[in-house]
Amino acid sequence: MSSIRKKRIGIMGGTFDPVHTGHLILGEAAREQFSLDEVWFVPAGNPPHKREREGRATDEQRIDMLRLAISSNPHFSMSLIDMTADGYSYTYRMLEYLNKTYPDTDWYFIMGADSLRDFDTWCQPERIVKACHVVVAVRDNMNNEDFDKLLDDRRLQYRHNFLKLNTPNLDISSHQLREKIRAGESIRYYLPDNVLYYIRKEGLYLIPEKT
Ligand code: ATP
Ligand code: MG
Repeated sequence: MSSIRKKRIGIMGGTFDPVHTGHLILGEAAREQFSLDEVWFVPAGNPPHKREREGRATDEQRIDMLRLAISSNPHFSMSLIDMTADGYSYTYRMLEYLNKTYPDTDWYFIMGADSLRDFDTWCQPERIVKACHVVVAVRDNMNNEDFDKLLDDRRLQYRHNFLKLNTPNLDISSHQLREKIRAGESIRYYLPDNVLYYIRKEGLYLIPEKT
């Protein structure tokens, strides 16, 4: 009798302010490399004091941009599961909830190496690793040796197999795009055209950011 394969779903969490090609390539690469059935893009909420920040998009605008960005990929969808009423996001809570709600699914949480570097500062990281496979992509031009060492360090530390995503270094960040827009530089091809038109239409990221 053949055993039934569990469903595999990737979770691409982030602020997506704005979503860019780096996020999309990570989702697609993870889908291919780990034979994922679906990839869910999960925008994090903003706590009340960060909701209407100058120079940043609102929650609604971040959601709109994400919806546009993923619209052409049938394997991609968006979940607002991490947009909690109080705006505070806890990855471990989300993953534990997903495991409870969908017991026939294996979860693959996708992140960049910068997030893995900061992983100790996340809330309850040992509960995160119990609840999913963590998939990590290179970032910030980290060389291969340093990236492998970081993965090995975290494997030892958490006794969990962090999976390496095979992507080239994608030198692109939301912060860099916000700066480019403010400087009047082109961001074409750094994100999908429909997101670019939306940013223009809404006049996003033109005024200086207040942190
Ligand atoms: P910001 O510059 O505002 O921090 P960002 O580009 O890092 O934005 P986030 O929404 O913070 O985007 O990222 C969500 C996740 O995607 C994080 O785990 C981050 O490490 C990863 N990520 C984003 N861009 C890349 C990239 N170019 N290469 C690899 N990982 C990335
Ligand atoms: Mg970031």
